Amino acid sequence: MPAALSETDFLVIGAGVAGLRAAIELAPAGRVLVLVKREVADSSTQLAQGGIAAALSDEDEISLHLQDTLNAGDGLCNPEAARVLVEDAPERIEELIQWGTQFDREGTKLTFGREGAHSRNRILHAHGDSTGREIQRALYAKAKSLPHISVHEFEFSTDLVFDGGRVSGVRVINDRGEHSTIHALAVLLATGGMGQLYLNTTNPSVATGDGVAMAYRAGAEVTDLEFIQFHPTALYLKKAPRFLLSEALRGEGAYLRNMEMMRFMAKYHPMAELAPRDVVARAIMHELERSRAKDPVVYLDLTHLNEAHIRRRFPRIYSTCLQYNVDIASELVPIRPAAHYAMGGVRTDLDGRASLPGLYAAGEAAGTGVHGANRLASNSLLEGLVFGARAGRKMRDELRAPAGKVSVLPPAAYSNGPVRIPAENSVSALQELMWKEAGIVRTGGGLKQAIARLEEMGAQVSHPQSRREFEARNLQIAGLLVARSALAREESRGAHYRTDFPDHNDVKFRKHSIVRGEKIGFE
Ligand SMILES: Cc1cc2nc3c(=O)[nH]c(=O)nc-3n(C[C@H](O)[C@H](O)[C@H](O)COP(=O)(O)OP(=O)(O)OC[C@H]3O[C@@H](n4cnc5c(N)ncnc54)[C@H](O)[C@@H]3O)c2cc1C
Repeated sequence: MPAALSETDFLVIGAGVAGLRAAIELAPAGRVLVLVKREVADSSTQLAQGGIAAALSDEDEISLHLQDTLNAGDGLCNPEAARVLVEDAPERIEELIQWGTQFDREGTKLTFGREGAHSRNRILHAHGDSTGREIQRALYAKAKSLPHISVHEFEFSTDLVFDGGRVSGVRVINDRGEHSTIHALAVLLATGGMGQLYLNTTNPSVATGDGVAMAYRAGAEVTDLEFIQFHPTALYLKKAPRFLLSEALRGEGAYLRNMEMMRFMAKYHPMAELAPRDVVARAIMHELERSRAKDPVVYLDLTHLNEAHIRRRFPRIYSTCLQYNVDIASELVPIRPAAHYAMGGVRTDLDGRASLPGLYAAGEAAGTGVHGANRLASNSLLEGLVFGARAGRKMRDELRAPAGKVSVLPPAAYSNGPVRIPAENSVSALQELMWKEAGIVRTGGGLKQAIARLEEMGAQVSHPQSRREFEARNLQIAGLLVARSALAREESRGAHYRTDFPDHNDVKFRKHSIVRGEKIGFE
């Protein structure tokens, strides 16, 4: 157990791709402390299977990657952010390779896979379907080799603290329940996503929207939170977790079949199984709703593909499904959609700067507008790399700013709260509510109900003491932000679909939603 620290130069909250990449960038400029709420291996990065996109193959061009990213974003990408993403990509990937990342190759040449809505084969993968794990391994090894970086596990960051209007550190609760405050010149939120808002999710248990909730409570702007991507294909078996069945399976030629064993995607989109994720997720929901079965599913069918190739190309998916007695190479795989990715987050500029001095955000916790209303597959590991590096570079400038004196803060008042309901009960109720009313298909009435219930829940979670209670409070805040933003956006776009406003409304809503305190605006 490392000695407790009360002060450092740079604080990085989170050790996924974004946090680790930023830490590496910061290391030459000062002491970097990376806080992680559980183990380093608990992250979405670790789970990422399909790969990472970059226009590196001979047949590809940066302009095509840009165009595909903009198309997926459904008119809402910040074009500057998207341009930065695709232009910085090749250099960031070359660097990863230099640091030891073993992407899959044929002979000496990198192999590029294809995923939905990409017009070229441009997805690099590692050990078949363990891309995120390999990238995190290499970044962590690199970070550990740099003397200025310390990584502390089981340090749960609860709140931002201020000094003279500038973010100057975080409050932390460790695994023994002890509270402390750590001061720094600048703080980066790289806390990942918020998939735990939903009953069905591919996200790890750490994805509770902590960064967004902390930033919002501190007065920072958050943006585009109505855009939650639902992955169309998560394993659906009673006793199994909602294990992700990568888009790359459909890239390799897998079909989707309904309960009548019919392929149905061509009815919904000309790209059929390779249509954008939101289209596939809604098509599946539609097929589920029209089925008369008691507990309907849709199937992923790989049985027409070469068995040996499937086992070799997707070893992790193959072996995980086999644990649940499904041989994906020879049997139909029951699936349903699950919450997967948050396009929005803490509003930042192209260098990760949030709206509060001293505060930065990168990766899934950030909202640069790079994904618009819908993320292109395999662009999010890339986002963490590119914007993590840029945020780290920008934070280094903070060292030159006058540090100011460190204020002594009174201990947080966590006692004398209302009667407490076990955090687990609140979280399960919230997840069901969000799935039903703020999920794949939304209505104004349902969102209003969700907001009313979430506001009621606020009182139950407002005085957290344990780590789980802090997570419950963060989920309640993030849920409310998602539902309010979804209600305000009276149109359908990208991953946000409302039956009462099924079309785009470009005049009013081809803009980003921005929440400032109680107000939501579109800019
Ligand atoms: C199953 C799955 C498959 C995916 N497949 C792909 C893919 O193939 N390609 C792709 O591009 N993207 C994929 N994604 C998305 C991608 O993995 C994530 O968007 C990306 O890894 C996010 O990286 P990050 O660094 O922002 O956050 P994460 O990797 O989630 O890391 C978040 C970090 O923050 C820490 N943290 C959170 N809250 C706190 C707190 N309060 N205090 C301290 N620490 C905290 C966590 O412990 C963790 O270390 C996938 C996601 C999932 C879930």
